[in-house]
Amino acid sequence: MDPYSIFSDIVAGRAPASRVFEDDDVVAFMDIRPFTPGHVLVIPKQPARNLAELDPEIGAKLFQVGQRLAAALRDSEVAADGVNFFLADGIAAGQEVFHVHLHVIPRTSGDGFGLRGRPTSPHRADLDYLASSIRGTLERS
Ligand code: 5GP
Repeated sequence: MDPYSIFSDIVAGRAPASRVFEDDDVVAFMDIRPFTPGHVLVIPKQPARNLAELDPEIGAKLFQVGQRLAAALRDSEVAADGVNFFLADGIAAGQEVFHVHLHVIPRTSGDGFGLRGRPTSPHRADLDYLASSIRGTLERS
């Protein structure tokens, strides 16, 4: 299978998937290599390789469906105590499949899942400098 189109194949029904939700805009299905049991992916039906290509309304829909799934992961037999959302945008961020997808990862204490990065403690001036740069870019977009 071509990793660049596997999710489009799932949307089209050409590749197998254990679906948990579907509507006109999105599909949610079980990740075949779950970080924890019950790990679900939510994807747009319309292919978008990255966030820049994703229609913001569909992006909002991904989050809405993720919210519903989070509740279902707590209330179903998955019996999650907590949930992490994760979205990798770009190779540097760990993206492997280039069709936007929101990971919805059920958590229980001691499950071993976690981000490896350590938080840093920058000076306020550094935070302000980058905030100004990001703000300026937002204002121009
Ligand atoms: P990424 O690293 O791009 O954020 O995550 C890609 C995810 O897609 C991985 O968690 C991987 O296990 C999952 N995945 C890759 N190929 C398939 C597939 O064919 N079917 C399903 N259900 N999940 C897949």
